Formats: sequence, C-alpha cells, structure tokens
Amino acid sequence: MKYNFLDLAKANEPYMEQLQEAACNVIKSGRYLHGEQTNLLEQEIAGLCEAKYCIAVSNGLDALRLILRAYIELGVLHHEDHVIVPANTYIASVLAISDNGMTPCLCDARPDTMNMDSSLIENLITPAVTAIMPVHLYGTPCWDEELMTIAKRYDLKIIEDNAQGIGAKANVPGINGTFTTGGLGHASAISFYPTKNLGALGDAGAVVTNDEELAKAVRTIANYGSDTRYHNIFMGLNCRIDEIQATMLRVKLRYLNVENMRRSEVAEAYETHITNPLVKKPDIFDDMLQIWHQYVIRIEKRDEMRSYLEKKGVMTDIHYATPPHRQPCYRRFQSYRLPITNDIADHAISLPIGHPITASDAEQISKIINEFKG
Ligand SMILES: *Cc1c(COP(=O)(O)O)cnc(C)c1O
Repeated sequence: MKYNFLDLAKANEPYMEQLQEAACNVIKSGRYLHGEQTNLLEQEIAGLCEAKYCIAVSNGLDALRLILRAYIELGVLHHEDHVIVPANTYIASVLAISDNGMTPCLCDARPDTMNMDSSLIENLITPAVTAIMPVHLYGTPCWDEELMTIAKRYDLKIIEDNAQGIGAKANVPGINGTFTTGGLGHASAISFYPTKNLGALGDAGAVVTNDEELAKAVRTIANYGSDTRYHNIFMGLNCRIDEIQATMLRVKLRYLNVENMRRSEVAEAYETHITNPLVKKPDIFDDMLQIWHQYVIRIEKRDEMRSYLEKKGVMTDIHYATPPHRQPCYRRFQSYRLPITNDIADHAISLPIGHPITASDAEQISKIINEFKG
C-alpha cells in the first residue's frame, strides 16, 4: 500500500463537474479580471472571516506585502519599523516584512502549539516595534489574551498570516469580538495556494480587514496605485486575481467545512491510534477549532522514522526543515537563540492529512508508526 502525502488531482476530483462548468461560464462571459466572480468571492470570504472588507489578490505573499505597504502609504507604519513575527513559520511571513524594508523580529515558538509564544513577545518590544504578525501555523489559531494585551499596551497593528488557518476559530475573541481567524486582528492575509485547505487551481490570495481606509489603500495599490481610471495616487503594483481562480474558489468554498471536517477526522484517527511512546503528537485543543492544515508529530530520530515510513510506502514532509533564520538569505539571524523553533525544525514530521488520505488510512499509518522501534 502506498500513501501519498497529497494528491491535488484527487483533491479536486469530487468537484470536477462544478469546476468545469464554472470555468466555462467565465470563458463565455468575456470578463476575465475585475468581474462578478471576484466581487462575490470577496463578499463570501469577508463573511467567512466575520470581517467587513476583503480584497482578493494574486497570492498570499502579495496579500501580506500589500497590508504592510498600505499601512506605510497611510503613514500608520514606516519602512524603518520592526515587526514581531514567529520564527517557526513559512518564510513568506518574514519576506513580506523585509520586502517593505521593515525589520523582522523573530519570536520563538511554544512547545505545545508550535505557534508564536506570547510570553516571549514583551522581551522583543522596542520603540521601533509597531506591528505584530501572528501566524496560525498548521491550522492552529495563534491568539490569546496576552498577545492582545501587549498589542494594545504598545499600540501595535496586528496583522494575521492566515494562510494556513482559514475557517479556524480561536478560544479568545479578537479585537472586534469575533473568534474566526482572519477577523481577529486589524488585518489578515489568506493564501489560496493549491495545497492550502481552500486551494485555487493556481495562485490566489486575499486581504481581509474591518478598516475601511486600509481596504481602500490595499485595493488601490494592488491596481497600479490607481484610485480612478488613469489616475495614480500610489506607485502601485499589479496584484490581481483572475476571474477563473475566483470562480474555482467559490465552488470549493462551499465545501470548505466538509474538507476541514475530513481533515479533523484524519487528525482524530492519528490521535487515537498512534501509541508509540517515541512520538510526540500535536495537541488537540478542545476549546479552539483547529483546521489541520498539517498534522505535525515530533520524534528524536526524525530522519530514521522518515526513511522507515518511506520504505513502508508512507510519504511525509517537513514544515519546515530550514526555518527562515537558518536560510542563506537571512544569515543575519542565524545566531539567534530560538531553541523551540530549532527543535521543531530538527524533529518534526508532517504526516499525510490531505487527499486522498482517509481516517482508515490514518489508522493503518498509525500501526506502521507504532512498529517503529528507533
Ligand atoms: C502559503 C503561505 C504563505 C504564502 O502564500 P502564497 O499564496 O504561496 O504566496 C504565507 N504564509 C504562510 C504561513 C503560508 O503557509
């Protein structure tokens, strides 16, 4: 038996007819950008995140870049500012900060959630810090009272990287009183990269916010900085989403809950059936809604376990074997003391949880894991 890590063709297969029909309708409409599908997607995503505004854009990294850039254009943030960001994240979170000439301040992770450790944030505060970017990594909300209290005390903008967290719910309400990730802070970015829980059939992303001024600035910058036709108030970018991706996403959005539930069943199966004492399973928090973008176990003999699993036909991945501070482009951070992030990088294995893995596959994979003696 072979267990693939993720098969995107299989993930989209259940929706084949609806996707084909939706794509056909866009082709026939003759409207390929700035159309009805984009407008409707924006309304639906804003609704999902319990926020007022959504601007659909080209990808998740652009969504993050645009939020920071818009705050800079509005004079709320500045190029010389510092932004607190988890060290245990996909590098795109950090790149968005650097891209705007700002300085990332890497915060280590909590051993249980593997998300940014709120108890370490205050140590990183300096007068230059003006924003914080919690990342809902692996689909677990990165949100608590402490983060909000510090953000309020130091007047920080909270920009959520919700690339891996769409549809998750925190156990503490956000600054607007709602619980859904993407609507907790001042602004958030989503990625619709094909492997994400809500994946397009190409690149796409979105900015979500309750701040009308920010929403306007993001929309304008994403469209060459043009507020009205041939009138440019910012030196902008082209970060458009196309109508085909918007309509693909609208089809798949209807099944997001079903897909998230399917992942949750796989996670429950691993939780129940993995009993190998060498393996540390991810915590399941009953008071939050985790959407299981990844199911990340930790084990001392990681490389041995991975090659053992591969021999048994179980394909795995690592998120992320080389965290941002150990990448050549961020050599300046390499000496930072980030023990938990380093521990995750050296011992994490992501088990298959996307299509075509089912709960009964997860039970079989768990048995294989339990036979590993180290
Ligand atoms: C995928 C991802 C991004 C980037 O999204 P793209 O759409 O690939 O540009 C940013 N942050 C995190 C945490 C991600 O997982």
